[in-house]
Amino acid sequence: MMSIAKESVIIIAAADRDMAQNIKDYLADCGFSDLRVVFDGSGVYETLRPYYRRPEKVGVLVISEDLPGCCITDMCHTLAGDQDVHILPMIVLGIRDKQQLVCELGILAERVQAGGLVHFLEVPFSRAELLMAVNFQLAIKQERRLRYKNEELLINELAERKVVDAKLKYLVAHDELTGLLNRENFERHLWLILKRNKKLPKNGALLYVDIDRFSLINELEGYQVGDRLIVEVVTVIRALVNRNYCFTRIGSDEFCLYLDNQNADDAQQFAEKIRKSLDDFRFFVEDVVYNATVSIGIASLHTDKAVHHPSELISRARQACRMAKENGRNMVWAYNGRDSGVLERQHDIYWAPLIRKALIDARLFLLFQPVIDLRSERISHYEVLLRMQGKDDDETIGPAVFIPVAERMGLIHSVDLWVVENAIDYLAALPDFMAHVSLAVNLSSVAFQDASLLALIKTKLEMTWVEPSRLMFELTETAAVDNFEQTRNMILKIRALGCKFALDDFGAGFCSFNYLKRFPVDYIKIDGQFIQNLIHDETDQVLVRSIVEVAVKLGKKTIAEFVESPEVVEKLKEMGIDLAQGYIFGKPEKGLQASNAISIHQLMLKAQRNGED
Ligand code: C2E
Ligand code: CA
Ligand code: CA
Repeated sequence: MMSIAKESVIIIAAADRDMAQNIKDYLADCGFSDLRVVFDGSGVYETLRPYYRRPEKVGVLVISEDLPGCCITDMCHTLAGDQDVHILPMIVLGIRDKQQLVCELGILAERVQAGGLVHFLEVPFSRAELLMAVNFQLAIKQERRLRYKNEELLINELAERKVVDAKLKYLVAHDELTGLLNRENFERHLWLILKRNKKLPKNGALLYVDIDRFSLINELEGYQVGDRLIVEVVTVIRALVNRNYCFTRIGSDEFCLYLDNQNADDAQQFAEKIRKSLDDFRFFVEDVVYNATVSIGIASLHTDKAVHHPSELISRARQACRMAKENGRNMVWAYNGRDSGVLERQHDIYWAPLIRKALIDARLFLLFQPVIDLRSERISHYEVLLRMQGKDDDETIGPAVFIPVAERMGLIHSVDLWVVENAIDYLAALPDFMAHVSLAVNLSSVAFQDASLLALIKTKLEMTWVEPSRLMFELTETAAVDNFEQTRNMILKIRALGCKFALDDFGAGFCSFNYLKRFPVDYIKIDGQFIQNLIHDETDQVLVRSIVEVAVKLGKKTIAEFVESPEVVEKLKEMGIDLAQGYIFGKPEKGLQASNAISIHQLMLKAQRNGED
């Protein structure tokens, strides 16, 4: 039960002074402390006036129906009819018929009565009736006030929440740094455009803008300066675009701009305008001035190949932007499905997921090609060559198709580790009588940029008890020259385990005898292009002889690859080449030769028979 506010103002308004005084005395006896007596309508308003801003202080108005200078129904409307907190409950001391008054109050009557805001007390009334009415009205007022307060709190809370929600929505939809739309919303916008275009074909083009050499500024000057550059570039572009254009930040330094209703030529001109403005723009970092240029790719909605998905349009524009970069930067390039770079990219996009899947689903497998020791005329070891199973199980995909993709798409490291692991497992699984067999595994250049390779080889060899000398690694000359020191260190560590190394495709790069001196390899593998025509090409002969000469001096062995005829075998022997590999001895196959004792002549015969089949 709510406690009744005995200190609130109670106004007693009656023309009958005795009655007014009696009520006052009685209520004072009951503990009410602030009782005001007035004798006419204006007295009521005068008493109320100071409480205009503090209506909660006034508790109840006890008013006789015949109060001079006031119309009781008006007063009920004004004071008790209010829906909000300013409401003042009234107790009307009725002289007339109650029903008549209710009629006069009209619609208000129902509300007022239902809410109990106007209470009728027919004269004469008992003291108990009066007290009950006063307490009841005060309680109602209090309850109203409390409810209002809670509502007010709730409304404020809701309003606050709305502001927070709106802020969040903005942040989710926009990029915090530039205030541009983010990718998700941009794509949603493009969806609508594509949908609309199905019914009402219109022109449109997407520009993909990429800041040239952004990472350089980021690295040289720090991220804060990088952020400032982004903001300034956006400001320059914004000044050129109509506000209705859909403009988004799609990557750290990449932006997309959708130009509605513009054909390819308009878009090209507009892109040129952006490029030119940024070419003229100067970016200041203290005393240093940068010329921040951009490369822009354009993809139009209307080409021979329809666009079905926003990401398709974005991807085309991005590919065009890449072409602009590859062709010298600070350039505008329109997408053309026949560009070689675009084709390469499409190739990558197609193959990358297949490689990833092949790694998981065991769709990679190894072939083995024998390498012959030309002195003993026996197999020295096998080169491991990787293959991928195609969609049809009998379709085999060669490394030339997927290794370059794996290199560009950052998958090569996983591929390398897979091959190393499987080659060691293969050695470990061989029967005892084949314990002499060793394998040469090809590694990409990036294999050496990650310490996990060394760890993998080490633990794998330890776990399988495979003799480290049964494992050789081949890396190409170009791969070795990239990151020379890092690669060299890693090779030293792997050789320290007992594994061997060969420098592959030697001569195909820039024939770096200088590097060769410093390179810790055991074998030099002369590139097949110098071997295939060795008999007829004198230049090849000169080159091969000089390689052999250097190798002998450096104490390294030589391997000739692509040996395809008996004449070449003889020539190689005469030149002092140590080992040879090629179709004449055998193509890459799923298994190894059953015996190591198999002679070179048997191998050649076998290969010849296979070739004739
Ligand atoms: P590579 O290391 O120079 O391998 C020699 C390539 O020449 C192999 O092609 C082999 O099948 C082929 N070949 C062997 N003998 C002859 C011959 O007498 N005549 C002709 N015309 N070709 C011959 P493959 O297997 O297609 O491999 C191509 C390249 O793919 C390899 O060149 C190597 O760079 C790379 N690769 C192969 N397997 C792997 C691997 O497991 N990991 C990595 N990272 N690269 C690999
Ligand atoms: Ca090789
Ligand atoms: Ca090679």
